[in-house]
Parts: sequence; structure tokens; C-alpha cells
Amino acid sequence: MHQTMFHRVRYLLSVGDLSQLPPDRGAEVAFAGRSNAGKSSAINALCGRRGIAFVSKMPGRTQLINFFQLAGGRHLVDLPGYGYANAPAAMRARWEALIGTYLRQRRALRGLILVMDARHTLTPLDRRMLDWCASTRRPVHALLSKADKLSRQAGERQRIETEEALSRLYPAASVQLFSSTASIGLQEAREAVAKMLEMGEAVEDYIPDAPSEEVESDREPRSGATKRNPRLKGIKPGVKPQL
Ligand code: GDP
Repeated sequence: MHQTMFHRVRYLLSVGDLSQLPPDRGAEVAFAGRSNAGKSSAINALCGRRGIAFVSKMPGRTQLINFFQLAGGRHLVDLPGYGYANAPAAMRARWEALIGTYLRQRRALRGLILVMDARHTLTPLDRRMLDWCASTRRPVHALLSKADKLSRQAGERQRIETEEALSRLYPAASVQLFSSTASIGLQEAREAVAKMLEMGEAVEDYIPDAPSEEVESDREPRSGATKRNPRLKGIKPGVKPQL
């Protein structure tokens, strides 16, 4: 059942300013993580749509909040990746204002999925995300990504250590091992997201004033003409942000 919910995903819009957010109703779950932690791959894997989250890799969109719509007014929200070594101070300040305010104030937000490379967990910026969630006590579920790069034993050790550290920092957090490429922990992650989303009332889907742009999916094209967003031309999966 959860799988069906994710497969109906469609790209809705991207915003760079809090005033452009869709109405604050329904339920949404946000994904956060350091750049390169595997956040886009995780969203793609959860939705079973390899191309869906690459919208956040498009030049000009790496610093935007990207919304993906599921049925019943529910959204997955892809927050800008963080931790760019050379990001100018002004950009970091903008990121803090955008993400910090979103996490603290968004009422529709039911929980956060924190994507961390299983080999490098709880960096200072990951901790900052937890601080921002603390005032609202929203649940946080950590995906320890790229678990395929660790042996089973090393992965389990990382999971336990992260769980222990998290329980001191943020008691409302849970942790699991995850791999998009090796399909480790997919179902557990879907259930965690669905559980958060189900905490919200179902409302009518939001239809933005301007037509939303379709992101070409490599699977299950919708009936009729699925238009490729002209701005996606030349953007291939795996393109890294231009920051
Ligand atoms: P993002 O910047 O956090 O959105 O990260 P991406 O999803 O773009 O992934 C960054 C890099 O890590 C890409 O080269 C991916 O192919 C790779 N990657 C993502 N998930 C996994 C995984 O589960 N296992 C492995 N081995 N590599 C992964």
C-alpha cells in the first residue's frame, strides 16, 4: 500500500523564498542531508522513479526547496543539500534563513528524513538540522545511506553508534541502514515516511497558479503526452550542482 502512495509522485514546484511555499496544509515530510549524501537517490528509490528527484540537481535549483506531490495533499519536500566546502558566507546565511525558518515554522511538516552517508554521520550541519527540529519535537528518521559500501558488521556498528549518539541529541529520532543501489532498507524507509505522512489529514491536492512542470520519468509515463520540461534538456541524471 505504501508503495502505491510513492509511485503516484509527481514534481510540483520549486521555491527559493518562503513566500512562495504552497499552502501550509495537508502533510509533508522533508528530506535533508549533506550534498552528495545520497538524498536524491534515496527519494528516487523510495518512489521507484529513477529520475524524479534530479530536478534538484538542475543548475539554479540546487538552493531551492523542491516539492513533490503524492495523493491527498501530501508532499515529499527535498531541501537543498548542505555542506559545500566553498560556499560563500552569503549563500550559507541564505540557506540558514530558508531552511531554518521552514523547519521551525511549517505546520504541514510532519517529520524529517535525515540522509547521512553511513560512513560519516552526524556532522555539525546534520546536528544543526536536529536543533532546528527540536523546538517542534517533530520525529526525525535517519537514513544511513550507501550502506552497501560497508560490510554488514561495520554497517550494524555504525547504526548502533549513530543511534546512541542520536538518542542523546534528539530522543524522537530513529535510525536505519539504507542503500539506494543495493535496495537495502527500502521498505523500512517507506514505512517511516508513510507513518509521518499519515499523521496529517488528507486534503485536496494543491494546484499551483502556473502549470507545474513534468519531470520525465524513466518508467510509467502517464497516459497521453508526458512533456519533457524544456529546461531539463541536456541535464543528465547524476549531474552535480554548480556550486
Ligand atoms: P545528493 O547530493 O545527496 O542528492 O546525492 P546523490 O543522490 O546525487 O548521490 C551522490 C552520489 O552517491 C552519486 O554518485 C550516487 O550514485 C551515489 N550514491 C547514492 N546512493 C548510493 C548508494 O546507496 N550506494 C552507493 N554505492 N552509492 C550511492
